[in-house]
Amino acid sequence: MPKYVFVTGGVVSGLGKGVLTASLGCLLQARGVKVTLQKVDPYLNVDAGTMNPYEHGEVFVTRDGLETDLDIGHYERFLGQDLGAANYLTTGQVYWDVITRERNGDYLGHTVQVILHITDEIKRRIRGAVDATGADVVVVEVGGTVGDIEGLPYLEAIRQLRDELPRSDVAVIHLSYLPILSTTQELKTKPTQHSVKELRTAGIQPDFIVARCPIEVPDSLRDKIALFCDVPHEHVIASPDLPTIYGVPLVMREEGLDEKLLARLGLAAGEWDLTAWEAFVDRLRSPERTVRIGIVGKYVELRDAYLSILEALHHAGAALATRVEVGWIPSGQVERDRERALAGYAGLLIPGGFGERGVEGKVFAAGYARRAGIPYFGICLGMQVATIAFAREALGWEKANSTEFDPHAPYPVIGLLPDQGTVTAKGGTMRLGEYAMRIVPGTLLHDAYGTTEVGERHRHRYEFNPHYRDAFAAAGLRPCALSPDGRLVEAVEAVGHPWYVGVQYHPEFRSRPLAPHPLFLGFVRACLA
Ligand code: GLN
Repeated sequence: MPKYVFVTGGVVSGLGKGVLTASLGCLLQARGVKVTLQKVDPYLNVDAGTMNPYEHGEVFVTRDGLETDLDIGHYERFLGQDLGAANYLTTGQVYWDVITRERNGDYLGHTVQVILHITDEIKRRIRGAVDATGADVVVVEVGGTVGDIEGLPYLEAIRQLRDELPRSDVAVIHLSYLPILSTTQELKTKPTQHSVKELRTAGIQPDFIVARCPIEVPDSLRDKIALFCDVPHEHVIASPDLPTIYGVPLVMREEGLDEKLLARLGLAAGEWDLTAWEAFVDRLRSPERTVRIGIVGKYVELRDAYLSILEALHHAGAALATRVEVGWIPSGQVERDRERALAGYAGLLIPGGFGERGVEGKVFAAGYARRAGIPYFGICLGMQVATIAFAREALGWEKANSTEFDPHAPYPVIGLLPDQGTVTAKGGTMRLGEYAMRIVPGTLLHDAYGTTEVGERHRHRYEFNPHYRDAFAAAGLRPCALSPDGRLVEAVEAVGHPWYVGVQYHPEFRSRPLAPHPLFLGFVRACLA
């Protein structure tokens, strides 16, 4: 029988439920347990694709083309596995299914209600994660904070599962926060007590309390939490602030979270094999050199908007014994200060993006990196602006642009993908998910990948206009990866430049701590040179 573990959050958001869930997955997997992870997001959006990165951080794209919350990215990185549609669930999806069934007449004669129909659908989808992956344990992260109205149907579904299944098949871990009073340097447990009370109101008694805390938690405080929250003393787990999220599995192992959870679930498991993980964390902590990379973007105020790119840079950095220091450059600032805004970086990276604001700053940065011989990595929009800059500067096509920004551009060097012409709805309609491509032998890209056949993940509506392909190649911006039918240009590189690469896809989604992405490795290496 599969086991269900739920991770809920209390007190405040942003405590790192995703990282805790991912860390638990990492630990259980390292002990030979077949585990999968699932995120439930209680908002009404069907997926994360239509949400503003300012509010929700990056949209993570799975291999099968779902636009998900960034926590799925943590899961993939900590498990070293590709996940998919079964691992991500929103209220929007749940209601969509129930309402569709209602329209089909599947509930004919019944009143369709939250308790029973919605909660049944939630349970069906949680079980679906097990069916889709064949896992023995599924760890389900419940988004939001206990007490949120949106979260209530999920808590009710968990409560029902606890009733329906044997006690040893379901466990609940509550992630909470111990604030510190600045005047007395005292950790306070009251908010935790209150959030557990809130959980109990929904009929759920947690089995473990994981307490995020800025400083060491004294034993007496663990006693207090155990007493007031009604959990065994040894089920109070301290999760201190760490310099890297990749250290969390190691601290949780030290606290015995996985060991105690397995005991609670009545599961036997082997010893951990975490040697490679530990070595990775060591490399992260003790770099031999530092390299400064500038990221030019529109959402630089919020680091989470570019989370996977940051992680991919750190994975590559660790492999090269290098600390990657990122400088955030707002594209608006480049528009004002030109090259002055770009000074002092060993390399420039332009990530994906949408809409006209700030795009001229990015075009300038891409052109500047090419002319100045600075390593450049353009991802999605970053490839498109590199193409625009090249058209204007090297081909002399003054008003070259993407039709996304200028529908009447005289040189539409970036245009809509053929099948996007008639698309008007925004949700889930881009070119999404993994597509195979062919790498042109003898290119920088070929050198980095060491192979000619790769699959990469996409999320875009516009593409390199194939009409101009030969003109670009002749002037020195050569297509270096194509779709298998040879029609779509998936990557370009500048001939004669130390490292100038633009890719239409998102390599950052495939980078893993123990398997850094070859292009991020190539880019960081070039920045070091
Ligand atoms: N806005 C561009 C497009 O849709 C780039 C998208 C992206 O960078 N993810 O093609």
